[in-house]
Amino acid sequence: MSERWDESEAARQPDELALRVYSSRLLGRDPSLVLHGGGNTSVKLRETDVLGDEHEVLYVKGSGWDLESIQAGGFAPVRLDYLRRLASLERLSDAQMVSELATHVMRAGAPAPSVEAILHALLPHRYVDHTHADLLLAVTNTADGARRITEIYGTDVVVIPYVMPGFDLARACAREYARQAHAGTQGMVLMNHGIFSFGDTARESYERMIALVARAEAYLARHATDRRVRRAPPVAASVTRAQVAALRRALSAAAGKPLLLSIHSDEGFLAFAQRSDVALVSQQGTATPDHVLRTKRLPLLGGDVERYVADYRQYFERQAARAGRPLRMLDPAPRVVLDPAFGLGCAGRSVREMVIVRDIYAHTIDVIEASTALGGFQALSEADLFDVEYWDLEQAKLGRGGAPRPFAGEVGLVTGAASGIGRACVDALLARGAAVIALDVDPAVTTLFGRQDVLGVACDVTDPAACANALDAGVQAFGGLDLLVLNAGVFPGGTRIESLSDADWARVMRVNVDANLALLRDCHPLLRLAQRGGRVVVIGSKNVPAPGPGAAAYSASKAALTQLARVAALEWASDGIRVNILHPNAVFDTALWSEAVLAARAAQYGISVAQYRTNNLLKVEVCSRDVAELAAEMCGSLFDKVTGAQLPVDGGNERVI
Ligand code: ZN
Repeated sequence: MSERWDESEAARQPDELALRVYSSRLLGRDPSLVLHGGGNTSVKLRETDVLGDEHEVLYVKGSGWDLESIQAGGFAPVRLDYLRRLASLERLSDAQMVSELATHVMRAGAPAPSVEAILHALLPHRYVDHTHADLLLAVTNTADGARRITEIYGTDVVVIPYVMPGFDLARACAREYARQAHAGTQGMVLMNHGIFSFGDTARESYERMIALVARAEAYLARHATDRRVRRAPPVAASVTRAQVAALRRALSAAAGKPLLLSIHSDEGFLAFAQRSDVALVSQQGTATPDHVLRTKRLPLLGGDVERYVADYRQYFERQAARAGRPLRMLDPAPRVVLDPAFGLGCAGRSVREMVIVRDIYAHTIDVIEASTALGGFQALSEADLFDVEYWDLEQAKLGRGGAPRPFAGEVGLVTGAASGIGRACVDALLARGAAVIALDVDPAVTTLFGRQDVLGVACDVTDPAACANALDAGVQAFGGLDLLVLNAGVFPGGTRIESLSDADWARVMRVNVDANLALLRDCHPLLRLAQRGGRVVVIGSKNVPAPGPGAAAYSASKAALTQLARVAALEWASDGIRVNILHPNAVFDTALWSEAVLAARAAQYGISVAQYRTNNLLKVEVCSRDVAELAAEMCGSLFDKVTGAQLPVDGGNERVI
């Protein structure tokens, strides 16, 4: 455990709430303490309202905030006297508790207070910190965890047997605190859940947290009996793109909606998946209850998704009958996959969800390995974890989302993605919730988008090895391919046929036709596994229906590409893959058109640049974004029953009409 307190930085904090933010972030910076929204902190302050009345206020972490990045606005101010009175009730349903918390917040627009707010209110100390420290989970998730906790802490902490989070836990903590606490009490251990520390200053509470967790660390170091023989580093077996895509398809079918899948073959994940006792240690349950909401109770071991779903259904029926309330089964798709061939797979509706699953499982492995070294990992019972998984409050929270994202869980691939129409296509797919593999010959594509749901790969589409590598990387990152936008192309300057060289002709054909044939061929095994059917959009050109003089190679190449796409529409309809074609014209905000080229062309026709830009029947300027939005819509439900279509995007052209 490393202690990160910096007194000079702490001294710079203007008030106690700022100090609360500072030390919360210190905890949040250590993923072995809190992970993705786990844990919470609070401070009790005295404030005067506009009428001059004084109140005690509990500032407690609001839901939806991570300790790592929390700001003052992320704390919900709740009336402390009211919270303490609530705690004196014998019973309070969790739904009612949430309602009471929300209606006693003292600032409009504040986030919903943590469901552990009452627990924070009950502790008499000014500062309260709560984490799900891996090291505590490792000790408490063992057969004799309670004995070990006493061995580590003696009476320095209050020990709470496991109770599900919510009002009952707050009551249990109040009861046990009253019974066990004394002047020297420094914290509270919640079995199979986490740890609280508290103090009169931010520093005292923070440093107690670190010191308490460090004692668990020292205990583990002394008592770990695992003497595993060092083996050679684990090796991933070769898994094909189609195998990964098939697994993703099966997971999506189980979920009833498309899921992304990422594959992680790092040494630690592979070694865990290849443990001889993996079936035993991985099938116990999660390390702390709230992980069950993100990862499901158990990982899928090996590739039999149908069997996993059948087991899940039995688990649900068994536990729903016990719980005795009407419940609807959640989507039963596993979110964690362990496979000795490739290590760890993480499934999610978004890249963010997958990242959370990966991080949680990485820490779960740490906990399991540490517990195993103490003699055996033993998670909460199936019933306890079920109660959290089917906790109505959490269900409501998970269901909350923003605007509908029609391509959530889907993967797009766009060529020529670093500029112009391609870049706009990436944006249009992202805006609809897809993750995108962005290919471009320009290496800038690797950093251009700067977000985790875009995998930018520098790739010359005429290089088969580079394309294969790009597809490998794309499948490893997102699990497959649903949407393919073939946009990359070259447009050489005007050359009449009598001066057109074989080399120039061949180069245009290589990029505009051959490369797209190769990509279509390589993407087909992935597209046919897309849960909602693969969709391909080919960026053609006005030059297909209306070629221009001086553009023989370009016009011929786009005509060949169009014909290729039409045959693909014929051949792949039986695989559920739709292939449609857009024919843009005069899209000037692309890399092909510099201001100088535009001015020269306008002069050639004897019109102004402005006239040249809108030189079509509707007198409108056609932009990259217009083409990209249409390309994205062609992948959407509006075009569900359309394949092999060719659509001009050109503001109207007499020669095309
Ligand atoms: Zn907790």
